[in-house]
Amino acid sequence: MVCGAFPLLKVIFMRVLCIMGVCYLAALVLLWAGRRGKISRKVAAVVSAVCLLAGSGALAAAVYPIGNSYGKTVNRLTDLSGNGAVVVPSPGSARTTAPLPDGAAQKSVPESGMAISAAAASGELPGPKDNRENVSVISSGTVHDKWIALTFDDGPYPPYTDRLLDVLKAKRIHATFFLVAEQAQQYPELVQRMTAEGHTVGLHAFRHRDFLKLTEEEKRKDLEQGKNLLRDITGKNPVYWRPPHGFRDFSVMETAAAQNLTVVNWSVIPRDWTGIDSQEIFRRVMDKADDGAIVLLHDGDSPGYKASRQATVDAVAPLIDSLREKGYHLVSLEEYVQAEKRPGQ
Ligand SMILES: [Zn+2]
Repeated sequence: MVCGAFPLLKVIFMRVLCIMGVCYLAALVLLWAGRRGKISRKVAAVVSAVCLLAGSGALAAAVYPIGNSYGKTVNRLTDLSGNGAVVVPSPGSARTTAPLPDGAAQKSVPESGMAISAAAASGELPGPKDNRENVSVISSGTVHDKWIALTFDDGPYPPYTDRLLDVLKAKRIHATFFLVAEQAQQYPELVQRMTAEGHTVGLHAFRHRDFLKLTEEEKRKDLEQGKNLLRDITGKNPVYWRPPHGFRDFSVMETAAAQNLTVVNWSVIPRDWTGIDSQEIFRRVMDKADDGAIVLLHDGDSPGYKASRQATVDAVAPLIDSLREKGYHLVSLEEYVQAEKRPGQ
């Protein structure tokens, strides 16, 4: 309302850097007024402290990957879903039925995760009947139970993206790639391979920049160019977007919404770009992995593209094996959402 009446206020409070600037400036003015005796020193100190805290809090909320202060951010698979009962792959098991909470629709996926994504990639999902013989209800909880998504940022980046795709193919799982479109432009064959092999292709940025510092026009242009480029390569518009560094404010979120992009960050971050070895990456992920986790890994090295990503590639096969041993099902974002959308059984 206030912002409607004062468009300048809206412009200021849409951007976290402006919010910080206003808060810090207010703190300075208050301190100055207190010193000059225009207001009580005590009041000046307390209110300026509140202003400093507010400015810092606004920045913390923008750079902290988790939280919805500036709009809905997906950090876990559950954030993509509603409630219901889960039907998960259970090789060789007979179809079973289980009572559903509150008459919620039962969800299912085919026995082979590969099958559903290949079908999803071609736009032809198997009908409910196709799956009934090969699935079982193993939980009456929510659809996210025991589902985890591996996501990879900053690619494509040969030879690591190729090697990673080989591992995922050998292990028969699908992941989600948040691509830098400039890189995709250079290596379209890698993007085509991702799509052909059933992975979800999301957008990271056209150019890997801090979106908190970009103008409205720069943000819009970057996302538009990135989307168009990925659409030209894959044949479909990306629907998921991971902002560079996970940073977002009101303005960033509004630009994403205008481009029909769902903002996806993560819940597990092993910091695989910091030079740690594959065992350490493995350990950090296994320590934090839980139901519905979205794991952030990197197959690329933006913006320099000099560092090796071999440690990440080497960590992925043991990660998949160990997560499976613990009963987790590894899915791409599209797989998860497609399973959610499936009609009741
Ligand atoms: Zn990145």
